[in-house]
Amino acid sequence: MKNFEYKKSLGQNFLIDQNIINKIINSIDLKEESLIIEIGPGSGALTRELVKLNANIISFEIDTRLRDELDNLSNDNSNLEIIYQDFLKLNLKEFLKSRKYKNLYFVANLPYYITTAIINKITEESDPNEMILMVQKEVAERFSANPNTKDYSSISVFLQYNYDISKVTLVSKNCFFPKPKVDSMVIKFKSIENRIRPDDEEKFYKLIKDAFKFKRKNLRNNLKEYNIDKINDILKKYDKDLTTRAESLTVKEFIDISNNL
Ligand code: SAM
Repeated sequence: MKNFEYKKSLGQNFLIDQNIINKIINSIDLKEESLIIEIGPGSGALTRELVKLNANIISFEIDTRLRDELDNLSNDNSNLEIIYQDFLKLNLKEFLKSRKYKNLYFVANLPYYITTAIINKITEESDPNEMILMVQKEVAERFSANPNTKDYSSISVFLQYNYDISKVTLVSKNCFFPKPKVDSMVIKFKSIENRIRPDDEEKFYKLIKDAFKFKRKNLRNNLKEYNIDKINDILKKYDKDLTTRAESLTVKEFIDISNNL
């Protein structure tokens, strides 16, 4: 964009590779009466393709300097609404109640400084069919990491409990302007229908957080406040004990422990 001063503080690396944009759009498994929410449309690289879909699109942009460019796009496309607001400050739950839709999607080339905050917000305040998100490559590895690998952490368990996570495409830093320092990855989160739910989701989430509190410590140390003997009994079923670290527990094992505490 001419004469536009890109703000690093807002994560403004705009997509300039049409091939990647097409891959993002093609990865959406769109159903009827869909609402697609985009976070950070920027100058509209993705938005321009999203409006061609049979869906209503709402894009949240924090930077009002992009207003002229984006308002032109919404004037030309009746299925597009742009809201100039910090997405993190939105009451998403209330907002969604005011909209009519059957299926919900989030699509975004995310501002990297708030990647996790945005994903947590979406997951806690809504129940999307899918999220298709561009994130830093290293962050994508963490989200989709398997147990017993260095990248497996509480966020991996939290997200893998909620979604099937798959990689859509690796994205070179050359696909953006200005060019970021690191490569990126588009990942797709698909809500798991009929997932086995813990009896108490809040308790389950707290257990995960506590179990990973100190990465180098084992379960006996991280879960001191819990009924440790009971946890040991459950672990035995999986040939594990309290010297195990959280990084070797699967989602299913966390659910089992949580349900028996
Ligand atoms: N979608 C565009 C593209 O792919 O070219 C721009 C992506 S750029 C990585 C991130 C965008 O998010 C920027 O336009 C930035 O201004 C916007 N943004 C940053 N923080 C935001 C927030 N808290 N709420 C909404 N938008 C935000």
